[in-house]
Amino acid sequence: MINMEFSDFFDIMWTYLADPESKESNKEGRPEFLKNLIDMLIREPQTEEEDQKAENGDLNPLNNKEADTINKYCSGSRKIPKKDAKDILKRISDGNRFFERIVFAAPGAKKGIRDELRKRSFNVTSASLGKVCFDIMKAFLEKFKEGKSSVTESDIADDKKNVTYLKLVHDVQFKCPLCGRELITDGDTEAIAGYDVVHIFPANLSMEGKAEFSKIKKAPENSDALENKIPLCLNCANLYLENPTLKNYQTLVNEKRRIDIEHKLAKGLNQLTLEDNLIKAIKGLKEIKPDKITNSISYDAHKIEEKINNDYPLQGAVQFYVMGYYNKIRDQFSSMEGNSFSFDDLATTIKLAYIKFKREGLSQSEVFNHLAHWILDKEHLENDFIEAARILVAFFVQNCEVFEVENAQ
Ligand SMILES: [Zn+2]
Repeated sequence: MINMEFSDFFDIMWTYLADPESKESNKEGRPEFLKNLIDMLIREPQTEEEDQKAENGDLNPLNNKEADTINKYCSGSRKIPKKDAKDILKRISDGNRFFERIVFAAPGAKKGIRDELRKRSFNVTSASLGKVCFDIMKAFLEKFKEGKSSVTESDIADDKKNVTYLKLVHDVQFKCPLCGRELITDGDTEAIAGYDVVHIFPANLSMEGKAEFSKIKKAPENSDALENKIPLCLNCANLYLENPTLKNYQTLVNEKRRIDIEHKLAKGLNQLTLEDNLIKAIKGLKEIKPDKITNSISYDAHKIEEKINNDYPLQGAVQFYVMGYYNKIRDQFSSMEGNSFSFDDLATTIKLAYIKFKREGLSQSEVFNHLAHWILDKEHLENDFIEAARILVAFFVQNCEVFEVENAQ
């Protein structure tokens, strides 16, 4: 284990992050830089007492110290006092301001910090840099609280994070979603992680960039949510962090969608739930007279022939159901649409159930019948409604959730 002293860490931060345009970067500016660093760790005032402190400039305990004293903290000849460390930790922020300072730092500076920390055996990548630096600062404050002054990698290692990352790597099947490279390779004694977990919606976009990316998919409310994270190989991760393109963003969004569908499929048919109100639609079908079968139909019958092309009885039955009921069912669903019914959710569930049956290697008519029985089962309806359920499945064949055109170009 390599011990890192606070003076050592401070030097890295100061060397790479101090604003060269301001006096922070002079030797005399070091106390100012440390004060700013601490400022970025402290959350916005949340109580009246904190408000008062903020107004007097007392929120940051270093503000009341002589520059000379702070200089000693920087150089390591004195430790930040226990009481002050405690005081800061009590009001520690979520780290966002601190991350931003690092996210928006020049690429060379980020690489510099990363390399220095790696030399001291910290497991850090370009994407995790802000978070790791924030965790190191917090770990130092915890140490100061106990009268100590050095930190090692094990002080910030986070098993929970490792499990999360492993899950994300598993989700993408151990391959970089952008270039296909293996994310974990075999070393002599242990596996070597060659990936970096990045935010799918990039963190450092301009306003115009944000608008462009939002057209493909909006930024999530919580950018740290799992749905917004994906592992890439180190090379692609670096490129995506420095210069995220719309094309790559679209690829990552698609990959996440695929993973979502796989997760839902893995949960099993029992876990799929159908809309409660569907029961009304099925029962109602018994009362609805079919449309007259005429030649002037308002849908594209060609589709069914393409989807069901070697089971003629099934093809004929589905065509019959669709001609008689498609428009009526469609109108009924659109009149049901509201708080307690979502057609899109229903269509997705039917599609998932279809994929499950198809993957079991069933023939088209078996899939069709299974789906009809599955719907009855889910809605706790007796067999009397089987024809209505078949009409409903036929609706979803026409609507493209069930069966696809084989060899579609
Ligand atoms: Zn890659």
